[in-house]
Order: sequence, then C-alpha cells, then structure tokens
Amino acid sequence: MDCGIHAREWISPAFCQWFVKEATSTYGSDNLMTTLLDNLVFYVVPVLNVDGYSYTWTNDRLWRKNRSKHLSSSCLGVDLNRNFDAGWCKLGSKNPCDETFCGTEAESELEVKALTNFIRTHSDIKLYLTIHAYAQVLIVPYSYDCKTTPCHDELNEIAKGATHALASLYNTKYNYGTGATVLYPTSGVSGDWSYDHGIKYLFTLELRDVGHYGFLLAESQIRPTCKETMLAIKYIAKYLLAHPY
Ligand SMILES: [Zn+2]
Repeated sequence: MDCGIHAREWISPAFCQWFVKEATSTYGSDNLMTTLLDNLVFYVVPVLNVDGYSYTWTNDRLWRKNRSKHLSSSCLGVDLNRNFDAGWCKLGSKNPCDETFCGTEAESELEVKALTNFIRTHSDIKLYLTIHAYAQVLIVPYSYDCKTTPCHDELNEIAKGATHALASLYNTKYNYGTGATVLYPTSGVSGDWSYDHGIKYLFTLELRDVGHYGFLLAESQIRPTCKETMLAIKYIAKYLLAHPY
C-alpha cells in the first residue's frame, strides 16, 4: 500500500499512518485484523512523494508533482502517477510546466523506480492498494484504456463489497469501477502498471470528499475518513485471504 504519491492529497499519508497505528494496536483484540496480520505481510509506504509533500507544507499547499529538475525547462516536477510504464504519456502532458507532466520517459523518476523495483523484487505481492484523494471512488483497472481486465467482474464485485463495508460506518457514498469510466481516462498510473505486472488484486482509492473541501479536507474529517477506509481495506484483505492465487 502506498500513500502520498500526489503531494497535496494530505488525507492519503494520514491514512497510511492510521493504518499502521490501527493494525498494530488492534492486533490481538480485533479478530479480523489478527487473522490478517497472522497470514499476510503488509508493506506500507506512508509518503511516496516525499519532496513534493514537504513542499506542500513549506511553499505551496496545492503542489501535486515531485520536485525534480528538467534540462529543457525551469519548471519543476513530474506527476509521478503519470510516469509508470502503462500506456505511458498516452494521455499525460509532455509540458514540464503542466501539473500532469508525465516525465521525459517512463520511470524517469526516482520515486517511481523505487516503487517498481520493490514490486519487481517482491514477486509474492498479491494485492496493491494506492491511496489518493479526492472523489470517493474505488477504482479497478484500467485507466489508460476503456478496456476492462479479464478479472474485471471479480474486481468489480470486490469493489462493490468494499464500498458497502466503508459506507456501513457513516453512510459515505463511493462509486466504483474502472478509472476510465468512474473518474477520467489517465495513463502511466501505478495501478495499471501493477496489474499488468501480474498483481491481480489492484485497487486505487480516492478518499473524501467530493469537492466541498477538496484537497483541503477539514481536520475534523481525518479520523472518520480513516476509520471508514479501514473497513474497505480489511474487506479487500479478507477477500484475498479467502481467494489466494
Ligand atoms: Zn492523486
């Protein structure tokens, strides 16, 4: 699971931290969490885009990209979630000054390389969760194309169950489906790459809200967002445990 690939989506790193705290503090008392931790290894990247995230605290709260330099332009940064080798730059921008600049080539960015190398060297990874905000959607592949995956029906069913579990706490409504249909078509995203790399269970979450606060989600919503998201993650992980491959 990774969080904070986009710098300004602060609720995302908050969730990864919450997940670790909650997992470790409920191990032994919560039956499902205990079963999950006894049977699965979770790798959590709390802030993938460290430089960008730091920059949102010091200079520009709404910065999205990383902070890498380019030879051809004085503009900084690449949209890390356009830099993966999955339909790379089919839809992203080739202009370094744009927010969705996809980089000079696929995996040109150190953060993306670090993640893909980690996944390549851990062939036992069965589930990949990548946490964004905002939109309240649970996305299954693909985003770079309107095509669906061979596992589409199963993934969509899991997404349905997970959004149902999430809504059981505060009645927060989520949509689910392929990225190209429930959000917008994008290319070079980590989810599509991971799926193409062989990870069957693949979900991108866009957390609260649907635009009222947007990236500036109110502090009072951090805890409820984390609590409800946890239910979706536990649902998905439980499914994986019951359906190994
Ligand atoms: Zn994002």
